[in-house]
Parts: sequence; C-alpha cells; structure tokens
Amino acid sequence: MKTPIFFSLFAFVFGWASVAAGAGKKPNLVIILTDDQGYADVGFNGCEDIPTPNIDRIAREGVRFTSGYVTHPVCSPSRAGLITGRYQGRFGYHRNPTLNPFDPAAGLPLEEENMAEILKKAGYHSGIVGKWHLGTHPRFRPNARGFNEFYGFVAGGHRYFPEDLIYPDIESVDRRGGWYNTKLLRNEKRIETDEYLTDELSNEAVDFVARNRTKPFFLYLSYNAPHTPMQATRKYLDRFDHIEDPLRKTYAAMVSAVDDGVGRLLDKIDQLGLAEKTLVFFLSDNGGARNNGSNNFPLRDFKGQVYEGGIRVPFAFRWTGTIPAGMDYHHPVSSMDILATIVGLTRLKIDPERPLDGVDLVPYLTGKKKGPPHEFLFWLNFDQQRKAVRRGLDKLVLLAEENEKGLYRLSNDIGETRNRMDSAGLDAKELEEGHNAWADGLEEPRFDPLGTWIP
Ligand code: CA
Repeated sequence: MKTPIFFSLFAFVFGWASVAAGAGKKPNLVIILTDDQGYADVGFNGCEDIPTPNIDRIAREGVRFTSGYVTHPVCSPSRAGLITGRYQGRFGYHRNPTLNPFDPAAGLPLEEENMAEILKKAGYHSGIVGKWHLGTHPRFRPNARGFNEFYGFVAGGHRYFPEDLIYPDIESVDRRGGWYNTKLLRNEKRIETDEYLTDELSNEAVDFVARNRTKPFFLYLSYNAPHTPMQATRKYLDRFDHIEDPLRKTYAAMVSAVDDGVGRLLDKIDQLGLAEKTLVFFLSDNGGARNNGSNNFPLRDFKGQVYEGGIRVPFAFRWTGTIPAGMDYHHPVSSMDILATIVGLTRLKIDPERPLDGVDLVPYLTGKKKGPPHEFLFWLNFDQQRKAVRRGLDKLVLLAEENEKGLYRLSNDIGETRNRMDSAGLDAKELEEGHNAWADGLEEPRFDPLGTWIP
C-alpha cells in the first residue's frame, strides 16, 4: 500500500513545483465583497458595537490594509474597476447603469476582459455568488462573462426575505424598484429559496468551495449586505440588544450575518486543507452610506463622495504561509490590485491594449519590493465632477458642484478637516495637473444612468 501513497504524494508535490517553475502558480482566489459597509464597521478597524470575529480573522491571519481604496464611491463603477483591474473610466463606466435588461449598452463592455475571463485561460473554474451589477442585458450576465457558475441576482440590490421575491426575472418587472424583488438565478434558471438572503449566499459559497476543491477556482462572493433595504432576521437582531437606534441595530444584524458566513467559508477552506493554496480578500465596494446606519469614523463623508469616507474601505488579505500573519500595511492599495496580484502569480498575459492599473501586491507584502505600490491614485465621480488624487500622504479634493478645493495631509488629518490649500499651493497644482493628465485618458460615459429606465 505504501507505493501508491508515495506516488500520489510525489505527483502532488512535483505538480506544484513544476507549475511554479513554468506557467506560474494557480492558487485559488476568493474575493468577499460587502456593499456599503463603513470603514469603522469591522473589528479590525476598531468597531466596538458590532463584533466581526470572522472577518477579523482574515486580517489577523494575514494583512490589514489601513489605506485600502476602491476606484469609485458607488457600487457599479467600483465593481467594474475591481473586476477588470483598471480604472473603469478608461472604458466610460462612470456611473450606476440603468438596469434595463433590454439595453445592450448598459454593462461592462465586452472587449474589457474581466477576472473570470482572464483566469479561464489558466483553467480556473469561476463562480459568482450574490450581486452582479455589471449589466442586466443577457450579453452582460455572469455566464456570458467568463463565470462557470452564477448564483444570485443581476441588479444593484435585493430584498432579503424569500417571500418578497415575486418576479420570475428582471424582464418581467413592471414597476420601479421591482428589480429588488426578482427570484434568484442559478445560472440562467430562476430558483425558489426559503432562507434569509445573506444565509443563502453563504450556503452557496461554502458549497462552491466544497464542490470545486480539486481544481483552481475563483469565488467572487458578492454580498449585497449591508446595502438597503434594511432587513434582518430575529436570529441576528437578538445579538444587538445593546444597540438602541433601530437603523444601527438592523445594520449590525446584517453585518453579523455576513460575518457568520465568512466564518463558515474560512472554516471550509481550512478544513479542506486549502488555506495555503487560497488567496482570500475582504473589502467593501464603497464607503458606508448615509442611509444604512453605517459608520466611517474618523473618515469624512459617505458613499458617493471622494472624501475618504466614500472610497477608503475595510480591506484585508489572507494568504496563509506566504503573507505574514497580523501585518498592517499602510501604503495605499486599490481594489484594482487584486486582479494584478493573481495575474502576477499565474503569469497570465494581459491584452497590451488594455493594461492593468493595479499592482501585484505580493512582492510588497513579502518585503521584496519597498516603497509604495502606487505613486498616484485617482478618482472621478463624473456626473457630479468630484475629483480626488492621492500621492503619498497628500490628497487633493476638487468638487465642482460644491465649488470646493481642498488639500489634506492624511498622516495627521485622516478626517480631512484642515485644508492646507493656501499654504501649499505648489503641491496642489502638481496634483491637479496629475489628475488632468489621468482624466485625459478616460472615455465619455457609455450608457444612461440608473433611474432613466422606468419599467
Ligand atoms: Ca455599494
């Protein structure tokens, strides 16, 4: 009996070594994305009223990014940046699209390769569980965009209780907002569900990992919690008797449900012996919103803004055995870096016409590379002409509608309360010129905004 065991072990070890020497490694990739969760609403950023022990595990067993950013302060453009590894304005993705399923322009342009399409070339099996929000027309849906598996919904949010899911599909929605009430899809087939939505998504994510344990996989677990509508079950609400404000209490319950799911997913990865072969990222798609009871303290403002409260998010990364546990990383990083990191490891080729804006973070986290991964990070909220640029510890904010210009030194003013514009005119000019040069490479919006389609 010893020989076969020896050979299978040999094949396993040799298989990994040869992969590492040739076409690159193929570690699994798990991205856990939450929706409108505040910077301060995880234990690893100091949250006290909502325990998040499982989300915290990712930071404790890996790295916490204290300056982790997304590319846009609202849902859909942020997801476009995440999944392409590029500033989404480069392909005119400046706003939440209309959810019109008959509009062939309202989604992620087909020529922009996304993470699942890129990883498919290395033999990855990809699944998205939860919120898609990158186009509702059939040409844009996950199964048409490189994902082998889709379990979730295509719009920008969803109701959480199964009895509210009444429309068979988005094409049959006959009133504004009804896209929150569609039945869930498994691939392109509608299904009946009977659990609280966050629990449904967690169940499916755990099952995805169990089913696909033997092949390289990419799991995009895209919770819509804690985005509105604010809905939670008694099981989770009962954990928060200490919170009086009903909005904050429901928010806390929704975050707690996510945290339970994250714990079950990490347990499954660890039980299957996949911890050292699996990159796990956790982040929110934008800052906490004004309407959901979230907390971005000490950051300024909320979702939609280019102040830190709109774009700096809870962000952590675990890769057991490679990234030192319990590390804090303070240089700015971006959601775009996730794709660049997995591309760096797999050594996949990227379309030279569409280079990534993200950076492979592994050499920075293992100490092989010093200094900041990004010289600049840029933001543009096109419709309101809100602009921001960060270089080092400085950040410039330009708000056209509000007629505000601010220069902030984030190292001693993370809350962006002390405008240094008058005393540091030269720095501001350089940053504004940098932003202008970047914005010159962007496209005009390619599709109509949310709200222009009324079923
Ligand atoms: Ca969001």
